[in-house]
Amino acid sequence: MNVLSHRDPDVAAMIEDEETRQVETLELIASENYASAGVLEATGSVLTNKYSEGYPGKRYYAGNQHADRIESLAIDRARELFGAEHANVQPTSGAEANMAAYLAFVNPGDTIMGMELSQGGHLTHGSPVNFSGRFYNFVPYSVDRETETVDMDEVRRVARETKPKIIVSGATAYPRTVDFDAFADIAKEVGALLMADMSHIAGLVAGGAHPSPVPHADIVTTTTHKTLRGPRGALALCKSDHAEALDKAVFPGTQGGPHMHTIAAKAVAFGEALSPEFKHYARQVVENAVAFGEALQEGGLRLVSGGTDNHLLLADCNTKGISGLKAQNALQGAGIITNRNTIPYDERSAYVTSGLRLGTAALTSRQMGTDEMRRVAKWINRVLDDPDGEGVRETVRQEVAEFARTYPVPGISDR
Ligand SMILES: *Cc1c(COP(=O)(O)O)cnc(C)c1O
Repeated sequence: MNVLSHRDPDVAAMIEDEETRQVETLELIASENYASAGVLEATGSVLTNKYSEGYPGKRYYAGNQHADRIESLAIDRARELFGAEHANVQPTSGAEANMAAYLAFVNPGDTIMGMELSQGGHLTHGSPVNFSGRFYNFVPYSVDRETETVDMDEVRRVARETKPKIIVSGATAYPRTVDFDAFADIAKEVGALLMADMSHIAGLVAGGAHPSPVPHADIVTTTTHKTLRGPRGALALCKSDHAEALDKAVFPGTQGGPHMHTIAAKAVAFGEALSPEFKHYARQVVENAVAFGEALQEGGLRLVSGGTDNHLLLADCNTKGISGLKAQNALQGAGIITNRNTIPYDERSAYVTSGLRLGTAALTSRQMGTDEMRRVAKWINRVLDDPDGEGVRETVRQEVAEFARTYPVPGISDR
């Protein structure tokens, strides 16, 4: 903030406040993480100045010799990281990657199958308030009431009945392993393309801690800023025979100039994810989530599906007699940052909710292990057992801040 603190002290001060917040609170939002100093440096580079519409070697503007090298490197690293035949590194967000995927392979009004939003699916998997639900005929699949996991027989039944052109696998609030192999089988049977949206689990896939959808799916989309620890953005992968359709759907289909500064940062993040340390990170994220889940349950908090296989937990706040909204707010007061979320067959609205979504990706990036996760779980149970108790909240907030300050934050502590 050296330059900014002189030229625009207002904005500089706000960014510094945000840095302090990130250092002194415990980040448990499952879709968030800390990008490295290298990723942040690339994101803040002069590449933001450059227009590069088109693809490497085929641009619509001059002066792209270095942009070409950077985008080609990002593509090569993405393909290596995920073992993919083709990569498009231009999507600016997960939502836009999904928009491009639909545009590439189906027409407005066509049938697509996706996981019900209230059960863990994403807005772009057919919510009526999203472009996906308005432009396409989305049919939902849900989780089993008893096991609270995706029932592949039900997926097969809905697919046979509705004959979708695309089946979307992957979710935004699902704590269990996604069986991409079984999805591929069903897609094949009904003549659908299989799309895997691995936005949440991409880092686990990259690090070998979740089975990869890449061998099974025709197209794979993902954000780059969640478990993958890269810049805010996205990536789409596909088999070679779909490459042309996908590239055209990203540009000129849905986007203009690519964000070359973010693409450089994606290259940096893919490089980091290719390192042996990242494999260790991915495994630790899952180990931490399992230990965290056990400790939360010991304190009386029920977990949807009884636990987790990945980085994410979905807690049922009904077991504490409160809503997700109330839990989220009480925890925020104690410096523990989460987001409320519906649970399967939730009786509360999508605004109030009965659930709390928790993830271990960010705290694991701060080098926390299972002991730390058990400590965090105790604080959470303490606050949720007395959600109106200002004294408890204030005590926990101070303990949390003191604790959190001793763990490095990538991108802040190592600049
Ligand atoms: C986060 C997420 C997205 C959207 O990503 P944005 O970058 O926020 O647009 C799409 N799909 C899934 C499954 C996600 O978890």
